[in-house]
Amino acid sequence: MINKALFARHGLRMTEQRELIYSTFVRMNGHQSVDSVYNECIKRGLRIGKTTIYRTLNLFVKLKLVDMLAIRGFPVLYETKKEHHHHFVCTKCHNIYDIKGCAIRGYMPGSKFHAKYHDIVFYGICDRCYNSDEKR
Ligand SMILES: [Zn+2]
Ligand SMILES: [Zn+2]
Ligand SMILES: [Zn+2]
Repeated sequence: MINKALFARHGLRMTEQRELIYSTFVRMNGHQSVDSVYNECIKRGLRIGKTTIYRTLNLFVKLKLVDMLAIRGFPVLYETKKEHHHHFVCTKCHNIYDIKGCAIRGYMPGSKFHAKYHDIVFYGICDRCYNSDEKR
């Protein structure tokens, strides 16, 4: 599951609790808030406090196992680290979709700014909501 060496390199220990939070999170898939990970832990009978989950998820972010996501109208979200992608948020059903690919890599012009990463979120209506509106 988690790479023990990665933790050791940062002077950290991969505790059983961290392992449990990680495996729960990975199994949930998608974009999850601290609350949703917490609720899933409760459902699975794991007694882990919300603060611990918050701290642990942020630790995973620091170790680049997990990405943090800021989306308007949502709490801070987390997702497992994968290939760079953008997001589409349906303002009707509130689903968050991964949009593969990136057309703006290397876009940053000039030499005054040294961008390391970017986040792009599109807001609108997903196809499913769009079509169900048409039918009405
Ligand atoms: Zn929708
Ligand atoms: Zn995503
Ligand atoms: Zn991009």
